[in-house]
Order: sequence, then structure tokens, then C-alpha cells
Amino acid sequence: MTKTWMAESVFAELHQFYSWAEKKLNHRFFYPQSIYRPFLSAEEQNEWMGKTADQALRHYIQEIFLRSRYGHQVNDPFGGLLLKECGYLDVMAFLKAVKNKLLSSHAYVSGRFDEVKLRMELSGIRYDDFIAKKIIFCNGTAIKNSSFGSSVPVRPLKGETLVIETPENLELIYNRGVYMVPMREINTYKVGATYDSKFLTADITSAGREELQNKLYELLNIRFKIISQDWGFRPTTPDRKPILGMLPGNENVVIFNGLGTKGVSLAPYFSGHLLNWLLGEGEIQSEVNINRFKSLFSKSTGAV
Ligand SMILES: Cc1cc2nc3c(=O)[nH]c(=O)nc-3n(C[C@H](O)[C@H](O)[C@H](O)COP(=O)(O)OP(=O)(O)OC[C@H]3O[C@@H](n4cnc5c(N)ncnc54)[C@H](O)[C@@H]3O)c2cc1C
Repeated sequence: MTKTWMAESVFAELHQFYSWAEKKLNHRFFYPQSIYRPFLSAEEQNEWMGKTADQALRHYIQEIFLRSRYGHQVNDPFGGLLLKECGYLDVMAFLKAVKNKLLSSHAYVSGRFDEVKLRMELSGIRYDDFIAKKIIFCNGTAIKNSSFGSSVPVRPLKGETLVIETPENLELIYNRGVYMVPMREINTYKVGATYDSKFLTADITSAGREELQNKLYELLNIRFKIISQDWGFRPTTPDRKPILGMLPGNENVVIFNGLGTKGVSLAPYFSGHLLNWLLGEGEIQSEVNINRFKSLFSKSTGAV
């Protein structure tokens, strides 16, 4: 519960971007909504009363409740914190709308990208019938299997989620230990997520299910039924910041990766940032510039 890195710029951009995208694509996928976070103790309650004096945090606090406010749905005997400027993105609906737009502009090809077919030429790069000045790799954790970028320090952080059904509609997004975000079907919620950097099997696990289920028992005061379980890999970096820019030693190859646990909020701002740089309208800020890992590339490839 500290203010996230670059909150002002990143949140402002994401609200603007997804609202604009909804209009442009004529689809609904962005749902601004408050989040309620129950306090675990009287100490935490006091701590947050103190924090309201902090101007930087006050902007995100809608209300502080000192006694139970949503006890009919969640366990909140000490009250809780209602946060604003929150919400969720229906990622699948967003991606589908973007894909349809690109298809209608003949700018989308579906299929596995096969690196072996990529040719580096003097004028740029070639892939099948495509010729371009640059190629942008935004392949998440698959970058570690790529000959372009195997040195980029992106590590998988596995996460598991549940889909649950409740007997009634939840008033807000509740978040304590787990988040519960509405899905399209009535009274159905996505619950997440676990964090595992050690056991990286590409599958759901009973341990993941149990962890989420136990956290739900702690949070919820109403019954729930588990409908399904899912998993994924987050592309994380050693300093938890994205990695952007020209692959050292190969000026035709651009990397856009390392969005980690926050792709939904970071992507609008940093894709714009990358675009400006590609258009020659600014530098990539040092905190996210791939050059901060330059030593890794010189060691492994001698390219820099
Ligand atoms: C359980 C879980 C919960 C999360 N919760 C949140 C959250 O609440 N908020 C948030 O902001 N973020 C969340 N994230 C993180 C978010 O999902 C990531 O930050 C985001 O997906 C990163 O986007 P990306 O496009 O860089 O990489 P990815 O989403 O990994 O996409 C890379 C894509 O490249 C494709 N690809 C790779 N190689 C090839 C190839 N050879 N040919 C064709 N395609 C290829 C892959 O199939 C994949 O679709 C969560 C992640 C997980 C796993």
C-alpha cells in the first residue's frame, strides 16, 4: 500500500487511452470502479488515518471507514479503505476488438512467428513477404528462447487464478490477499493471483487452488463456488521495470518487454514512450532503457 512507481503519468495515460480505445473500436472493455480493502487490525486503521495527511496518497483515497461498511459481503470488522482511480480491463474483449480492427485494415497475420525465417538485410529486415526497417519483439517470457534477446533478463513469474460464482452481485472490487474482479457472466468473478518464481510448470496446481481458496475464505462473508482455474507467466525483470529499446548490437531489433505484474497499466504509457523514440521524438528514459543491462549483452555476445 505505497504509491506505485510513476503512478501519476501511468494512471493518467491508461484512463485516457482505454477510454479513447473504447470509442475508436466501438466496444466496451474498460470499467473504472472503486476498490475496497478491509483493514486487518486497529493498528492498520490508525496508520491509514495518518496517511490521509499525505497529499500524494490523498488523491487516491475516496473514503476511510473505521467500522464495518461492507460486512454483509466481506470480513471487515476494522472497516477499510475505499480507493478511487481504480478499475479493471476486460483484456480478452480489448484484444479481440484490436484484432478485429487490424484485420479490417489488413494489418494482422495470425500464426506462429518463426525466427529462422527472419533475414537481416542492409535495408532492414525481411520475413516472408514483409520488408520493414525494424522489428519489435513483444513476446513476453518467450524471449528467453529467442536468439534475439536470450540475454534480455526477463524471468517468468507464474500466477494462478480462479473463476468463482457467488449467490449475489458484489458491490465493489474487493482486494485483500486476493482481488475479485467481475466477469461478463452474472455473479461470476476472476480471483487472483498467486506468485511463484520457483515451480514453473505450465499448468494449474492444487497448491495454487488451495492458496486462493483459503484467502477467499478469509475475505468473503458469503458462499462461493469454484468454476475454473487458470495460470499464466508474468514477464518480470530484476528491477521490476519494463525493458525498452534497441537490442544492443542489432539496431533493427527493438525490445518491448518486462511489463511484469502490471502490463495493463504500464502498456499504454510505455508503448507511447517507445513510439515517440522510434519516431525520433525523444529518448527512452534511463529507468526502462535496455541499456541499463548492457553488461549482460557484452558478456554473452561481445556485441556491444
Ligand atoms: C495470473 C496473472 C495475473 C495478472 N494480473 C494482472 C493485473 O491484475 N494487472 C496487470 O496490469 N497485469 C496483470 N498481469 C500481468 C500481465 O498479464 C502482463 O504484464 C502482460 O500480459 C504482459 O504483456 P506482454 O504482451 O508483454 O506479454 P504476454 O502477455 O506474455 O504476451 C506475449 C505474447 O507473445 C506471444 N508469442 C511469443 N512467442 C511467439 C511466437 N513465436 N509466435 C507468435 N506469438 C508468440 C505469446 O503467445 C503471447 O501471446 C497478470 C499476469 C498473470 C499471469
